[in-house]
Amino acid sequence: MQTLTLNNGVQMPALGLGVFQTPPQETRAAVTTALELGYRHIDTAAAYGNEREVGEAIRDSKVPRHDIFIETKIWISDYGYDATLHGFDKSAAKLGVDQIDLLILHQALPSDFDRTVAAYRALEKLLADGRVRAIGVSNFMADHLTALLDATSVVPAVNQVEIHPYFQQRAVLDLDDQHGILNQAWSPIGGITFYPGYGEDRKSVLEDPAVTRIAEAHGKSPAQVLLRWGLQHGRSVIPKSTRHERIAENLDVFDFELTADELAALDALETGRRGGPEPETVTLAAYGRAIPEA
Ligand code: NDP
Repeated sequence: MQTLTLNNGVQMPALGLGVFQTPPQETRAAVTTALELGYRHIDTAAAYGNEREVGEAIRDSKVPRHDIFIETKIWISDYGYDATLHGFDKSAAKLGVDQIDLLILHQALPSDFDRTVAAYRALEKLLADGRVRAIGVSNFMADHLTALLDATSVVPAVNQVEIHPYFQQRAVLDLDDQHGILNQAWSPIGGITFYPGYGEDRKSVLEDPAVTRIAEAHGKSPAQVLLRWGLQHGRSVIPKSTRHERIAENLDVFDFELTADELAALDALETGRRGGPEPETVTLAAYGRAIPEA
């Protein structure tokens, strides 16, 4: 497995299994399958409601704990210094681990940025105490990142944002690069462009002719091409699936290489259309919900 080195020297497998929208009752099987196939990185979140099942699969596996990279996220309802420290306790207890490899803030709260900063200071404390090996953020846009960097001392290791050929967020990625923050792609195979219930007018990036043409040329699937595109751009990718054959397919991306022209053709698919919520509009009133105790 290819690894990426975070800005504090910690090594992270470049490709991991995502479990957003994986129902708790299917999570254990999906994570077990992934670990058996060779995945060594799982991306979950307090808000996904499946940390417990991720932890069960990890414990049940024959893979030593220190060979698995566990990433999870603090939800906005647990922001604030003490609340975020407690958010760590809840996630660690559900996962059944003493230490989390990468803990990130799930969103900025632009309307209550002081609370966001306090949450990040709690991550800094957890890092200093060795409870987490690296800290970072998610869905932070350029303004949020700049304000955070001004107010805190540890540069985030990772910014996990929506990245697929239809929405590439180049300004955010450039700012991440300038500060040594690793770009991590959510919806790396464009899930947000086709998963049900997110708008009927969407066009799946997996069906884009540029993507299918490149896939045919390599004898690979469209999903594999998009993962390869992310990896060759130096990003971390965390594709989600609950199906055995797709979990396997999504890992089988280390035996081929896209050409510079193919990368450029995929880069040219930018639409400027965001699939997920506009980060600036995320508020506790609209998105807050209690994260249960362990
Ligand atoms: P992905 O790009 O990973 O796509 C997932 C979708 O694609 C699912 O519907 C899945 O269905 C399907 N799929 C998986 N593999 C294949 C394949 N090989 N061919 C065709 N279809 C496939 O989208 P996600 O939005 O789930 O993003 C991945 C991960 O990123 C999440 O699971 C989560 O960990 C993280 N994330 C973080 C967010 C944040 O705000 N920080 C927001 C969204 C995601 P099936 O399961 O049936 O195979």
